[in-house]
Amino acid sequence: MSQVREFKTESKQLLNLMINSIYTHKEIFLRELISNASDAIDKYKFLSMQDDALKLESDYQILISINKEERTLGIKDNGIGMTEEELVENLGTIAQSGTKSFLERLKTNNTNNDNITLDVIGQFGVGFYSAFMVAKKVVVRTKSPYSDKAYIWESTGEDTYTIQETTKEDHGTEVILYLRDNTEEENYDEFLEEYRIKNLVKKYSDYVHYPICMYVSKQVPKEDNKDEYETVLELEQLNSMTPIWKKSKAEITEEELKQFYRYQFRDYEDPLKAFHMNVEGLLNYNALIFIPKIAPFDLYSEKYEKGLQLYSRGVFIQDKCKELVPDYLRFIKGLVDSPDLPLNISREILQHNRHISKIANNLEKKIKNELEKMLANEREQYIEFFKTYGVHLKFGIYDNFGEKKDFLKDLLIYVSSKNKEYVTLKEYVERMKPDQEFIYYATGSSIEQIEKLPQMELLRDKEIEVLYLTDDIDEFTIKVLMNYDNKQFKNITQGDLNLESLEEKRELKKKEKTYKKLLEAIKENLKDKVSDVKLSSRLKDSAVCLVSSDDISFEMERVLQHMPGGNLGIKATRILEINPNHKLIQALEAIYEKNQDDIKDYAELLYDQALLVAGFTLEDPMDFAKKLNNLMIKTVDFTYSYNETKDQEN
Ligand code: ADP
Repeated sequence: MSQVREFKTESKQLLNLMINSIYTHKEIFLRELISNASDAIDKYKFLSMQDDALKLESDYQILISINKEERTLGIKDNGIGMTEEELVENLGTIAQSGTKSFLERLKTNNTNNDNITLDVIGQFGVGFYSAFMVAKKVVVRTKSPYSDKAYIWESTGEDTYTIQETTKEDHGTEVILYLRDNTEEENYDEFLEEYRIKNLVKKYSDYVHYPICMYVSKQVPKEDNKDEYETVLELEQLNSMTPIWKKSKAEITEEELKQFYRYQFRDYEDPLKAFHMNVEGLLNYNALIFIPKIAPFDLYSEKYEKGLQLYSRGVFIQDKCKELVPDYLRFIKGLVDSPDLPLNISREILQHNRHISKIANNLEKKIKNELEKMLANEREQYIEFFKTYGVHLKFGIYDNFGEKKDFLKDLLIYVSSKNKEYVTLKEYVERMKPDQEFIYYATGSSIEQIEKLPQMELLRDKEIEVLYLTDDIDEFTIKVLMNYDNKQFKNITQGDLNLESLEEKRELKKKEKTYKKLLEAIKENLKDKVSDVKLSSRLKDSAVCLVSSDDISFEMERVLQHMPGGNLGIKATRILEINPNHKLIQALEAIYEKNQDDIKDYAELLYDQALLVAGFTLEDPMDFAKKLNNLMIKTVDFTYSYNETKDQEN
């Protein structure tokens, strides 16, 4: 006698969704059914070890069968099976909270847009009911070791299902899918193809820890006539079962890891670094983490998705679990497998899974430790890493108002004026001069440009080490850091450096008197362009330089102007510093009284050259050229008496 029963409301909603889904990844149904089979075997195995009534099995297996004539696909296990009550409970109701929240999520997300709905299916999976995405009818034959009777559950996925008694020798479950009829848009025959099923098992269930087998047709020579072939069915295992990440560290060779990386993440290059983690305790997981040698080509594109592959007990769940890596590690590749995730994590909303966020925290610490180790022991390799990804770490420090600055600051390295080699902040501070107050840095588009800055002259002279900052983000990171080991950062092109000795200061005071008038005249002429003109002792060989006040530097001004959203109107304060020891300045001082008219041009030329040296473009290049030419004409006249000679000739 078969009994007709109704699905519970929530199940109906879900079924409806499955049947009407246009989800493109229908293929996940197989993963879901295989996972159920594997869970059922897990349960049997566990119980049989405690309960003498259950016989111990030695060959657990998940068997897939294809029947092309009937257009059916079967998935059979020798697991725990189900009693009649369990059938009703498990396949007639969806009581699990996971499913509930899944449905709620759908409701809030679903603004009549199927694509959103279907994305959620892909992310979470929906277990057994996903079978209805490809099947018009599902039949479940099952027997529990705790019941004498076996049952057949049957449904077309509409409002009802039936349960009736049947005969079945062994414990376990067989799920038979009657594939849907092909339509113009959809073809379900692919799920009757051996190669397709093989591929799906490889893709989603390769590491399930029971053999997944299928009778596969093989061409073999005939017994009686070796020249002719016949087709025979041969039982073949489709999954490889042991995931490389489940092996202990000692068991995996470096070469195996690299090979796995190249295959799994489709890279032609070996990874720059690979780490392997087996964590046991309150939190259980295995992880493989890789740093690609060459940054993924689309790393900076909007489409790039960060994240690690996620497995639970060897069952593939998701390709890019973004919750597992912070933004600043978006270049990391790898995977995590945790048995602690609910048997079917797909039912949980990953974002709010506490387990996932704990793993993510652990991974972040581990990655940081590994990077620190690399920095300490393999400097060359770390420099290679930093050249490719350093900017991300800097972003990590800057992000979220510096939330992670203390965590990450020791991973920073900068090229410094000392031999142009990379130095950490710690190393810099350790070799600071005894009376040195600040960590000095200079910004620019390249190391070469920075080295030519007039401001470098004094620091070179005083033998003070300077960090060279050439990334756009550098100064923002420095601003967030504020200090390192209680030493503040100081941009050598900003504010007063205060490096002069008392003697030098006295000297400068004296000179200020001598140059007072010249300074005032220059200032008057440049009043629209600079906020101040002063004598400087920071210059050695250059005549002038441009300095900004302490708040915004020139480099920040440049970066801000190039930000999306354009010119924010943020400008650094410009101060023109003049070198009283330079011949030109001395000459200007000497002739100033007699040639007050020329001072306008000179002032502007001095300002323009300071701009050029600081890496700016000129506001009016034509005007600059004209003034320079005028000056050259005068020089030529004076030096060669050119006009006089001409006059004489005429
Ligand atoms: P989930 O596996 O996430 O719990 P499913 O909808 O896939 O959700 O399955 C519902 C329940 O049905 C399972 O929890 C399990 O108890 C039972 N079940 C499904 N497949 C099998 C199977 N092959 N053998 C035994 N029980 C099963």
